[in-house]
Amino acid sequence: MSASSVSGLGVSPGIAIGEPVVHLARPVAVLRVPIPKNRVDDEIARFRDAVRRAAEAIEHNARRARERMGEEYAAIFEAHSMIARDPVLVEKVEKLIRTGAVNAEWAFDQVVAEYMEQFEGLGDGYLAERRLDLLDVASQILNILQGYDFGKLQELERPVILVADDLPPSQAVQLPLDHVLGFVLETGGATSHTTIIARSLGIPAIVGAHGACQAALEARMAVVDAFEGRVVFDPDPAEIAEYESRNAEYAEQREHLVELVAQPPVTRDGHRITLLANLDLPSEMREADRWNAEGVGLYRSEFLYMRFAPGLPSEEDHFQHYMDLVSRANGRPVVIRTFDLGGKKLAREVIGARESNPILGLRGIRLCLRQRDFFADQLRALLRVCGQFPAGQVRIMLPLISGIEEVRKTRCLLRRLTKKLRAEGHHIPENVPLGVMVEVPSSALIADRLAQEVDFFSIGTNDLTQYTLAVDRANEMVAELYRPSHPAILRLIEEVVQAASHAGIEVSICGETAADPLMVPVLVGLGLKKLSMNPQSLPVVRNLIRHLSYREAAHISRTALRLSTASEVEEYLLERLAILFAKIKIHV
Ligand code: PEP
Ligand code: MG
Repeated sequence: MSASSVSGLGVSPGIAIGEPVVHLARPVAVLRVPIPKNRVDDEIARFRDAVRRAAEAIEHNARRARERMGEEYAAIFEAHSMIARDPVLVEKVEKLIRTGAVNAEWAFDQVVAEYMEQFEGLGDGYLAERRLDLLDVASQILNILQGYDFGKLQELERPVILVADDLPPSQAVQLPLDHVLGFVLETGGATSHTTIIARSLGIPAIVGAHGACQAALEARMAVVDAFEGRVVFDPDPAEIAEYESRNAEYAEQREHLVELVAQPPVTRDGHRITLLANLDLPSEMREADRWNAEGVGLYRSEFLYMRFAPGLPSEEDHFQHYMDLVSRANGRPVVIRTFDLGGKKLAREVIGARESNPILGLRGIRLCLRQRDFFADQLRALLRVCGQFPAGQVRIMLPLISGIEEVRKTRCLLRRLTKKLRAEGHHIPENVPLGVMVEVPSSALIADRLAQEVDFFSIGTNDLTQYTLAVDRANEMVAELYRPSHPAILRLIEEVVQAASHAGIEVSICGETAADPLMVPVLVGLGLKKLSMNPQSLPVVRNLIRHLSYREAAHISRTALRLSTASEVEEYLLERLAILFAKIKIHV
């Protein structure tokens, strides 16, 4: 019997075996622990060391920000560093450790609470901002004191299983991901962004694994079984052998799929589907090539921002980055989505404040239109890149569109920038294709009007599901309510596809639903001819399409649309899939 196991939701298939490393991003309860009098000096030294390490990390970030973005942004980090090294604060904490003979975490927490109380009485505006700065710095110092230092994680030198209570995508991209064998997260959902990163890198992952951090703290070895949604700590040798053999079987199945990559994704009755890749980083183009993607249906440019954070990429950084990406595409079309920052994809430096409900806040196009300079840098670079390749190869896509005004405002900005760039001598083509993500229900409902204003649609079911069903896509507490198979979503997709077809514009789908074997027949049946997904899912979907007939798919989608609940739809689809694909092995 294994020592212990924790269940969750398997979100990126595979099995990983290795040493677990715990990362706690959420604040841990601070307990008051008495310290023997003769250890007080050591405790003070431990505190000073934590302050020094936090201040050094902040100063490192300040230097990076200064190099990349100039003094103005570096000032944010310098203010943080001053807080960390504030002699009054440090002195108060040391005094409390000495007089109370207590642990550094508790003394520090008490002093910070005292400061916060003083700030609270002083109202909003500038002081409220300083309050947030203090909170930021305090959590960094506390993390170090409690033994969880993100900086250390960035220096990982051996392969590990990363077990975390939370891991925002901004942190995930800063990890040496070559050394991450598997992810186990206590939070998250099937389409949260860290999940998407894991999936596109082919790293097995489980989310919503409550209690995994505690269990991992005491374990020397862990197995992530993302097929079953289970993580086993300290398995015995027989269990390890069993997992290794299942892993080998899975690798063999994948190898078989490699043999199919050259075969076109055509249904049995000759209906041609185009399979595209969703990418977060240009280096992922290797995987897209490996699985024979016909282009990039979604490039999530915000990962560029995350890699530069705490800095901001300049126009030239954008330009070089997209040139690299499009060159790697070797003539295939590339859809570059403008920054979709905000929400869970942290953009504190740009937003400048914390929001109480960021998912409904200043995210995507809203943030870009509010911060025009920041947006203009990206758009100028994109327009210049369009001028370097054949017409139409590079397309610009806008995220989180909820109404037509956002498209019109962006078009106006693009016109102004084009004029200016041409005056500066750049070649900017006429009619750069501009499309939108349809991922907010309001856009889907006015798709007929929206279709008159743009060149293409891409349906983002990750957010469309979140906003239609009012279910946070990254919240494990409601993960079971997150159902892209809900009839409401199917109806919206149908409307969008029909609106695009009437207007004669292209429509594709780039939400994770496009990679879900259960949903592929419905999507094809609804008339979607372009499916864009994480590269790792391409072979499974290619294989599935080659076993499907369009006539059957159309029948399946018509029937699914008449059903009343997500469960009814899923049951029906599972039944159909079992009949249709009895001969092929597909992990659903
Ligand atoms: C979506 O919402 O479906 C989508 C593809 O965009 P993202 O996952 O980046 O929000
Ligand atoms: Mg989205």
